[in-house]
Amino acid sequence: MTGDERRQALEGIADEITACTRCRLHEGRARAVPGEGDPDTEVVFVGEGPGFNEDREGRPFVGRAGGLLVRLLASIGWRREDVFITNVVKCRPPDNRDPQPDEIAACAPYLQRQLAVLDPAVVVTLGRYSMAAFMPGVRIGQVHGTTRPIDPETGAGDALAFAMYHPAAALRTQALERESFEDIARVPGVLLRARERRESVAVPSAEGPAPAEGPAPAEPLAGHPDVVSGPGRVNGAGDPAIRPAPPALPTPAVDDPAADEASQLTLF
Ligand code: SF4
Repeated sequence: MTGDERRQALEGIADEITACTRCRLHEGRARAVPGEGDPDTEVVFVGEGPGFNEDREGRPFVGRAGGLLVRLLASIGWRREDVFITNVVKCRPPDNRDPQPDEIAACAPYLQRQLAVLDPAVVVTLGRYSMAAFMPGVRIGQVHGTTRPIDPETGAGDALAFAMYHPAAALRTQALERESFEDIARVPGVLLRARERRESVAVPSAEGPAPAEGPAPAEPLAGHPDVVSGPGRVNGAGDPAIRPAPPALPTPAVDDPAADEASQLTLF
């Protein structure tokens, strides 16, 4: 699919979202928030749902949480225009309450189709509802900063999921904000590893296809802030601006009861 075809496909999905009445959230919205970003990106950030400012502007992450997301991206040399940003529900829940399971389920096909069009190498989940769509049955306090292979049923094919706290939660707790900067520093390395993983699947060796991944264990981390290239789609052997990934970083052992809320929600 070319960049133009991706853009057109995403605009078509956005048009459907704007007119959608599949769940009760359409009743209170000012504007639906389909998502935005570079249609050619390799990295998609998925939050939970629009808040007050997002509902007014029809754009994701434009309030204080969006400001932190921009700072997080800047800390690794990326801009929000370099990635694609969306949410699991595209309309604002009243009073910023958590999205409910039936609302998430009703909206899931839109995210699934967006991911199928974008075909990202990495999906960064922001918050526990987004994480639950790609890493069901885990606790965010235990898995933030780690990756898992993604179920192709999510639409994201052979991508890796990388879990982070929601920026709104990080704004409330200094420790979570610090950990969020530590976590995002790993994302460029995760992108490198995801590219290698996809290339090994796309170009099977003479002995046969690459071995299948096992059942979604938390993967070791290989990220590092020194990897400065943006997340644009790369064809061929790779981006010469990117230095080799350094040795694996340890998985942080964090167990903050305020943020460590288990969620069993499964979108797909
Ligand atoms: Fe439609 Fe999703 Fe909005 Fe519900 S949240 S009305 S499913 S676009």
